[in-house]
Amino acid sequence: MSCDYRALANAGVQSLMPYQPGKPVEELERELGIRESIKLASNENPLGPSPRAIQSLGGLLEGLALYPDGGGFALRRRLGEVLGVEPACITLGNGSNDVLELIGRAYLSPGRNAVFSAHAFAVYPLVVQAVDAEARVAPANPMDHAMPYGHDLAAMAERVDAHTRVIFVANPNNPTGTWLDAASLKAFIAAQPRETLVVVDEAYFEYVEEAEYPDTTRWLAEFPNLVVTRTFSKIHGLAGLRIGYAVSSPEVADILNRVRQPFNTNTLAQAGALAALEDDAHVRESVRVNREGLDFLTAACRERGLDFIPSVGNFLCIDMGREAGPVYQALLHQGVIVRPVGGGYGLPHHLRVTVGRAHENRRFMDALDQVLGR
Ligand SMILES: *Cc1c(COP(=O)(O)O)cnc(C)c1O
Repeated sequence: MSCDYRALANAGVQSLMPYQPGKPVEELERELGIRESIKLASNENPLGPSPRAIQSLGGLLEGLALYPDGGGFALRRRLGEVLGVEPACITLGNGSNDVLELIGRAYLSPGRNAVFSAHAFAVYPLVVQAVDAEARVAPANPMDHAMPYGHDLAAMAERVDAHTRVIFVANPNNPTGTWLDAASLKAFIAAQPRETLVVVDEAYFEYVEEAEYPDTTRWLAEFPNLVVTRTFSKIHGLAGLRIGYAVSSPEVADILNRVRQPFNTNTLAQAGALAALEDDAHVRESVRVNREGLDFLTAACRERGLDFIPSVGNFLCIDMGREAGPVYQALLHQGVIVRPVGGGYGLPHHLRVTVGRAHENRRFMDALDQVLGR
């Protein structure tokens, strides 16, 4: 007798649509038999990792027979110094994605719910559904709003009730690049029940140059229900190592550290992250290159009459004015990989392009001109 092993899975897992990662360059070139493709699909740093991070890894390969430091002592201590918090407030993750999942596992279950915005980061619904909790999705700002597609904090607050254990706020959000200012976000957090964790996902924190953009780690003392997540995958250029972290009250960190795997962050990731933290020059240069690239891309869109969502991240979500899937496919044939944000995000006409180096941004625009027949 055979069983239906799909039907035996937890209800939420049965209907999970797996996260769609950006297509790797090697895969595209293998499939289409082309060369010299570029990937602007996963918001990676086009400058690569800090040279210091690369250097820090070399001497460690001989030691890989040993398990990593499961407590991440050195990295948590240094992060604590940099952020002005105790190491006990920090939870390391295999990417910040891992930390988001720990939050779901520790605080969500059937009968509980999580609130987040439409067009928010795709991992939130996955985390919620995997544990059979309820996802409450608030509509985003309307088109005539000063920040179209951005989080509508009032609409999110309306969906919070006694069973809401987690609110996910992406600041800035991916894929939209929209952001929340300090005053609105602080007022929102202050108004939430203390039983509800407010998770502010700051994966692109270092890129944002707006004067009113908050560093929410400064608010941790005031809000025991605040959890801030950050990553080394984006500006630090270490996406392949998988390391990120949460900063929270020591109580929340204690819980998250109970459910994580004992060795969730590896030896190389801890060392690379530690070294990257000391390279401010690389961070500054990455911000500069991103600013120039974003200016180029937005100007190029304006010239072509293409709408886009104003972004403070290292990516731009561009409205193709038609189904974006075929445009994405045609760009692949030009050797340019971007991201169709598509159905799951409720943005079927948009493509998200990661800001690359100048020649990559030009290559993308040229390919787009070809594809759109200009
Ligand atoms: C990329 C990203 C992350 C996490 O990336 P990790 O590589 O898992 O650290 C988290 N949140 C948002 C909004 C992102 O775009």
